[in-house]
Amino acid sequence: MPRKVADCRDTPSVMGCTLTISGEEDEVVRAAVEHAISVHGHEDTQELWDATRASLKDEVMPGAAPVAQPSAGQTPAS
Ligand SMILES: [Zn+2]
Repeated sequence: MPRKVADCRDTPSVMGCTLTISGEEDEVVRAAVEHAISVHGHEDTQELWDATRASLKDEVMPGAAPVAQPSAGQTPAS
């Protein structure tokens, strides 16, 4: 499964925030929503979750093959 990226620089209405969050989709959505609430003052609404999930991009690693991602050592998502 490709990792996803949430990038504050892609989000309008953000004041100069350059944070990038990457990981599996559910992890990124959760972290990005919590960030949006705590840092950007958004309210915890379904719309925020939907918009955050919709804004995710596939992670692109320069020069890396699309697959070949070792899974050893990863902790399972709660
Ligand atoms: Zn931000």
